[in-house]
This record gives sequence, structure tokens and C-alpha cells, in this order.
Amino acid sequence: MLDKRKFYINGEWVDASNKNDLDVINPSDESVCAIVSLGSQADTDAAVAAARAALPSWSISTKAERIALLERLYDIYERRMDDMAQAISMEMGAPIDFSRASQATSGTNAIKEFLRQLKKFEFEEPLDDSDNRLIYEPKGVCALITPWNWPISQVALKVIPAIAAGCTMVLKPSELAPLDSMIFAEMLDEAGCPAGVFNLVNGDGAGVGSQLTSHPDIDMISFTGSTRAGSLISHNAADDFKRVGLELGGKGANIIFADADDNAVKRGVRHCFNNAGQSCNAPTRMLVERSYYDKAVEIAKQTAISTSVDIASKQGKHLGPVVSQLQFDKIQGLIQAGIDENATLVVGGAGKPEGLETGYFVKPTVFADVDNQMTIAQTEIFGPVLSMIPFDSEEEAIEIANDTPYGLTNYIQTQDPEKAKRVSRRMLSGIVEVNGKSSASGAPFGGYKHSGIGRENGEFGLKEFIEVKVVTGWS
Ligand code: NAD
Repeated sequence: MLDKRKFYINGEWVDASNKNDLDVINPSDESVCAIVSLGSQADTDAAVAAARAALPSWSISTKAERIALLERLYDIYERRMDDMAQAISMEMGAPIDFSRASQATSGTNAIKEFLRQLKKFEFEEPLDDSDNRLIYEPKGVCALITPWNWPISQVALKVIPAIAAGCTMVLKPSELAPLDSMIFAEMLDEAGCPAGVFNLVNGDGAGVGSQLTSHPDIDMISFTGSTRAGSLISHNAADDFKRVGLELGGKGANIIFADADDNAVKRGVRHCFNNAGQSCNAPTRMLVERSYYDKAVEIAKQTAISTSVDIASKQGKHLGPVVSQLQFDKIQGLIQAGIDENATLVVGGAGKPEGLETGYFVKPTVFADVDNQMTIAQTEIFGPVLSMIPFDSEEEAIEIANDTPYGLTNYIQTQDPEKAKRVSRRMLSGIVEVNGKSSASGAPFGGYKHSGIGRENGEFGLKEFIEVKVVTGWS
């Protein structure tokens, strides 16, 4: 068991001010894999003070200095990639091969992409042909709060652009999966990140989370997590007009027209189950054109049956457990709601897969004949649970897809390019993926409606951390 009861503040690993330990649970076997400390107000204050003190010098650091730091970080991360993959696999249950191929590499992908953006970004430019000058400055001291489902991806999508913009920061990772962030802090330390630019305090939402979001010395909050917490954070930030960026939940529709390619249903089921269903952009509502519906249900059933579940340390393409007992219980309750509201349970259902009684394992589950007003169609389940909904017309598909509080990612499957474009334009979501093509590496990521405010990744993601100033009479 790892003892990780320290915080990274002002360039040093320091003890927590109070003894308030939290066990980190390995969801594959329910064992305690590490102990961390939960921070108190004194720890939060110390980290914010360090970030505030570092701001004057880091905010005027040169682009070349920031690029050099991120390039060093990239090399160190590459070297320690397997430490990262192992930590994520242990703390949140991503199967090790998937953790290596997707979870851990999301960090280096983010560094690479923001290096590309930073190299081409001009921090000053003229405004059209006027004598006005636009100057792009760092927003200031940022509180970065992240969840457990794609832990290092979400951390990197905040920390890297904040560094690139010249901001300083305090990161509070998820208390369920803090180990990857602590490795990331070690990497930043080794890369020579100046003291106070990056600080890490572990804690829960009610403690360090709330302390950060209401702290008078914080200029900006970048949050990824639940819509519930996003709303609370916005209220907290309102009093002193902090900038708030929110990446929240989703309930993506995957519209499968009868002319979709043969692999569309299988691909959609697999995508829904990916990461044990714990992705905000998961296509959890599969909308299928009526003439193709029965066949689609059969394909979905076979795909779910052929999806295996196992412990995270085992190699292979199986699904791992979900992150916690709480998450397991929530998913079980929602599966029961689907049954109670008379959706047709095609495969899976309540309880654990055979032979996996210890650990938070969920059966890959498919419901058919789902009405979009049912609980399972409206609530983000965050587990490997697919809802299949038939539709009769393009117009009805659009209506059902948009009939949700969320608006993060929708999916369209058709071999008619004009139909794909027509329907894409009508989707109330930040991202529309057509025929299984994922977005480019610099594409903005974020949602409409209750899925959030702002965009991460690429140039949009960098600009989130920037304040703009106009100066007249520039000659
Ligand atoms: P969560 O909101 O419970 O926790 C996320 C983070 O916020 C954690 O670090 C937690 O400690 C902190 N937190 C919780 N309450 C807080 C509060 N009142 N003030 C400040 N901080 C608080 O979410 P979770 O269960 O860890 O993550 C799952 C959720 O995240 C899902 O709803 C998922 O869709 C969403 N998510 C969204 C995206 C996206 O980019 N849109 C990405 C990943 C996850």
C-alpha cells in the first residue's frame, strides 16, 4: 500500500496541516491501495498563496521558456508512461492494456497538442488595420478541479494550457483517483516547473473543492465533473466574478439510420461500454430507424454477450470495474429503474457478473424499447448500460436526440452525406461525430446546455486561460 499523504505546494512535497487520511480503494478487489490526506483550509490557503506569489514572474515568462518547460515535461512523461498507466489502472479500474493505450497516453497527447498551439499563438496582434493592439494575458491564479473517469486526461487538459498561458494554479484531483496527479506533480517538479506555478492539494468537494471555488485569491475555476457540482461551483464563484469553465455530464444520442454501415451498431455498443461506460461523451442512447431496429437489437445483444469483464491488472480487451461502491450502487439503482419502468432488458441486468463477486463489476447491459422520458434515457448512468430507442423519421430522431438536459456529443450513422450534414446542424451539442470518425487532435471539446460552459483542448482550450486587453494609439 502506498503512503501518499503529502501535498505539492510551492515546489515542495509538504505534510498536510491536519491528520485527515483517506483510503484509496482499488475497485478491482476493494483493497486499500494507497492512503492520501484530505486538505484543510490551511493547506488550501498555502497553495493559493504560493500560486499568487508565483504569478508576477510566471505571467511574464517568455513563450520560449514555457515551451522548454513543456518539452521537458513531455520527455519525462514518456519515460514514466508505465507508472502513469499502472496508477490509473489501480485507482480507477481501467484494464491495464487500455490504461496504457488510451488513459495514460491522453496526457502526452495533450502536451503535444498544446505545444503545437503555443508555438503558433501570438500573444500580441494588431486589431484589423487600426492602431489598436490586442494583448493576450494570463487570466491569473486558477483552481483546477477534476474527476476520476479519465483522470490524467482531464488534469492535462487544464494544467498544460494554464502553464502555456502564463497562469499559476492549484490542482485538486478527484479524491477517488488522486495517484496519477501525484505522479504528474513529480514529473512537473523534475521538469523544473518554477516553485508555486503548479500546486496540488488533495481533498474532497465539500472541503478543498469548496475552499478553492470560494477563495478570494482565485481568478478562475476550471472544473470537470458532475452537473450537480458544476452548478454549486458556479454559485460559489459568482460573488467575486471568477471566470468559470465547466465540463459536465452527457447523455449522447447515437442516431443510426437504416442506411448506416454494417458495423455501426457494434461500434456504438462498444463505444457506450468503453471505460466501463464512465465517459461523459458516451453514446448511451442508441436511436435506431424502425425498419432496422429489430436487427440492431440483435446485434447489440450479441455485442454485449461477447463483452467480457475482468480485473484491471489482467491484460486483454475486457471491461474493468466501475470506480467505487457508490458508483456501483447508483448504476444498480438505475438498471432497476429501467426494469421497473418496463424497458425490455435484452441482456445484462442487476448484480455482478459470475465469478466477480469482489470488486465493483457491472454486467454489460442493453435495454430495448426505451421511451426517451424513462429515467434510464434521461439520467447519466456512468456505467456500461445502453438504451435503445426506435424512431420513424429524421425529424423524430432529431427531436429525441435533443430532448435531454445535456448537449455534449451526439453521433450520426448514415451513408448519405447530405443527411449527415442536415442532422448535424440540428444537434444541440458541442460535438457531432459522424460514422465513427472522432474529432481531430486540436478540436474544441465541450458542451451545450447542462453539459457545461466553455471548451477544452486546442486553441479554444488555450484561450480559456487568457484575458484580452486592447490598447489604443499603438504605433
Ligand atoms: P463530481 O462532480 O462528484 O466530482 C468531480 C470533482 O469535483 C472531484 O474532484 C470532486 O471532489 C469535486 N467536487 C465535488 N463537489 C464539489 C463542490 N461542491 N465544489 C468543488 N468541487 C467539488 O464528479 P465525479 O463523480 O467525480 O465525475 C463524474 C462526472 O463528471 C460525470 O457526471 C461526468 O459526466 C462528468 N465528466 C464530464 C466531462 C466533460 O468533459 N464534460 C469529463 C469527465 C467527466
